[in-house]
Amino acid sequence: MTTTPNERTKPGTLTKAQTTPLMIKDRCDKCGAQAWMRATRGANETLVFCGHDGAKNLTALLAQGFTVDDQRQRLHNVVNEAKGVLVK
Ligand SMILES: [Zn+2]
Repeated sequence: MTTTPNERTKPGTLTKAQTTPLMIKDRCDKCGAQAWMRATRGANETLVFCGHDGAKNLTALLAQGFTVDDQRQRLHNVVNEAKGVLVK
């Protein structure tokens, strides 16, 4: 993985579910739970995090120039869908 110094110092961006949806097979690089946030920098640096670790590291990731796609809203959708199933 090579990243230019410029990419490391420019501030990152926070987006909401703008990239390919994370799937159940995407596991947090920190703890192994299901991932809900994807951090990318340059062409070949990608990290994925669960909601907990993503939130904990968000400020540092943005400060290091990562673009962080926050898909945690999808977690709430999954919960609501599950509740809908239970109500039926
Ligand atoms: Zn985690």
